[in-house]
Amino acid sequence: MGPEELLRLLPAVHEVLQREELAPAVARDRLRARDCVRRVLEEWRERILKEGAEPPGPAELAAQAAALFERRERPSLRRVINATGVVLHTNLGRALLSPAAVEAVAICAAHYSNLEMDLTTGERGSRYSHVVELLQEITGAEAALVVNNNAAAVFLCLAALAAGRETVISRGQLVEIGGSFRVPEVMAHSGTRLVEVGTTNKTYLSDYERAITSDTALLLKVHPSNYRVLGFTREVSTAELVSLGRKYGIPVMEDLGSGCFVDLGEYGLGHEPTVQDEVAAGVDLLTFSGDKLLGGPQAGIIVGRADLVREVARHPLNRAVRIDKMTLAALEATLRAYREPERARQEIPTLRLLTLSGEELARRAARLSELLGEKIGGRAEVGVKEVSSQVGGGALPLAELPSWGVTVRPLRVSAARAAEKLRQVEPPVLTRIQDENLILDLRTVLPGEEAEIVRALSQVLA
Ligand SMILES: *Cc1c(COP(=O)(O)O)cnc(C)c1O
Repeated sequence: MGPEELLRLLPAVHEVLQREELAPAVARDRLRARDCVRRVLEEWRERILKEGAEPPGPAELAAQAAALFERRERPSLRRVINATGVVLHTNLGRALLSPAAVEAVAICAAHYSNLEMDLTTGERGSRYSHVVELLQEITGAEAALVVNNNAAAVFLCLAALAAGRETVISRGQLVEIGGSFRVPEVMAHSGTRLVEVGTTNKTYLSDYERAITSDTALLLKVHPSNYRVLGFTREVSTAELVSLGRKYGIPVMEDLGSGCFVDLGEYGLGHEPTVQDEVAAGVDLLTFSGDKLLGGPQAGIIVGRADLVREVARHPLNRAVRIDKMTLAALEATLRAYREPERARQEIPTLRLLTLSGEELARRAARLSELLGEKIGGRAEVGVKEVSSQVGGGALPLAELPSWGVTVRPLRVSAARAAEKLRQVEPPVLTRIQDENLILDLRTVLPGEEAEIVRALSQVLA
């Protein structure tokens, strides 16, 4: 059949709209239902002209329009189940907030607040005042400022302190963090001139020292985040860089990436320098994220010398990257938990998920595989397996967190097809695939979500 004839097979809008498949949608909102039918017919018209595809009958077209109607009724941004084992999954929203942080957000969102009001004097206050003392207390830094995210923090600090002058950085730290955030490009846009020293794998203190001129504004250290140079390497320690900065009177700035307040080495996770370590080592200005290892909301945190922080705060760009009240509420509640490290480990979901015990994960994997065996035993092979979770968010890229997963090998469809369908159910379930098996890593599956996973898999493999 030629395209003309195929197009004639498409029914009229009103014909599809009358079908029973669309009755609930029509009852809810006839105009929106009609719009969905038009859209579906339009898509088929395009497919006919492009691919010569044969259109389905009115029943199927009505079902497609009903599905579109349902999809449009649902919120676009919604909860998913993370069974990937990646704790700080940037595509799945990174850190989960603690109950205290969630409550603080809800209160500030629904009520007026003292966001910029000094309640003692009744005069205008500073929105930063709600977190500055906590940050000073936790990190030991002299001053603090918070902005929209860490990329903004880096950009703002460079613009305020080094625009039109030079910033010295090791070639080993000119990294791309992801989402097109490349350190050299951000630096260039901030207006500073980049002076690269050393080589990809080795940089010495003398390399930095030789690069210093009367035009040097900053010595910059960037956490390599999502990659590591292994083997024949040499990096200048923070202490060495600080002493060089002091010798020449040049501030040292560090982009820590994932700002961590607790020594993860104590949890067997491999060492990340903490914010406190770097402040104590004398770094003049530090920036880090709120929603990576810190386990709070998306934010960029700047701590350091009072004179430098003041200059950064005064820069006009600060207004463009301003932190909002809901973020501040969540950040304050998150920071409060850190005043007692053990409380932080229990309350902050990111820390709790990273430190779940192997026994607990194994027990939950065994239980989930049992439930799945009962429900989908005939349609898939179900087992348990030791797996390794990832921290994610560019933190500790080499860390392998021993964990337990449930393996599901579908018998009638491919694992890829099953994973795709699992993303279409409600709530969507995100998994990993390995050797034709779906792997459900229990580390990031929240308590109570097991039943939803069982329901989703029975639906998908039906
Ligand atoms: C993640 C990261 C950033 C960006 O932080 P956001 O809070 O995501 O904007 C910047 N620098 C480093 C080293 C990072 O790891």
